Amino acid sequence: MRFVWAAATHPGLVRESNQDAVYPPSSGSGPGPVLLAVADGMGGHVAGDVASRTALAAATAPDVDGPKERLVAGNLAITERIAEDPSLRGMGTTMTLARVGPDGAVEIGHVGDSRAYLYREGELRRLTVDHTVVQELVELGQISEEQADRHPQRHLLTRVLGLGPVEVDEVSLRLHPGDRLLLCSDGLTGMVEEDDIAAVLGGAADPEEAVWDLVEAANRAGGVDNVSVVVLDVEV
Ligand code: MN
Repeated sequence: MRFVWAAATHPGLVRESNQDAVYPPSSGSGPGPVLLAVADGMGGHVAGDVASRTALAAATAPDVDGPKERLVAGNLAITERIAEDPSLRGMGTTMTLARVGPDGAVEIGHVGDSRAYLYREGELRRLTVDHTVVQELVELGQISEEQADRHPQRHLLTRVLGLGPVEVDEVSLRLHPGDRLLLCSDGLTGMVEEDDIAAVLGGAADPEEAVWDLVEAANRAGGVDNVSVVVLDVEV
């Protein structure tokens, strides 16, 4: 198989800094394996930025094995960074990371409320479950998905990298030619409905166009958060 990918990150229209981070740092194409990731940092003016970048650098190092080990490495790197500089205490980050193998096998590691989606034959399927208080309420049947989308506490995370030992979710799937894989921060999904994300993905000619069209859609909807998007296409 051959893959084509692109990544974009933008501060949005309201925030002064961009505390999201994406991987890879530039667009490309090739036979794989390909590593893709989105991280959304938190913890104050500077620290959120440090958290997402520190974790992403450790998680994408060449000598680390599976996605779960990569997120654990990211978690540890934040802890070590805080030990060096205690003023950074309390910083953390989400991370959604995918390794795409040459045969199309995908392994995803996930902590937080960034998301992975599969766009296949015109349909968008969410691959990850948010680690948020409102998602837990949805799973308990106490509120609907629609109520969760508008809940005032929808940003409260139940899991994050950097605050101690963490359980990493793992998801596996196999990509087929024509598939489009999307990783994104909540700056996209908090602003743009999934039907509209699907429409943008359906209308974009290639990953480069897709990532910037999605950033533009988030900003057109208000752009209240940093927005990060990674898209990978599968060719024959
Ligand atoms: Mn965010």
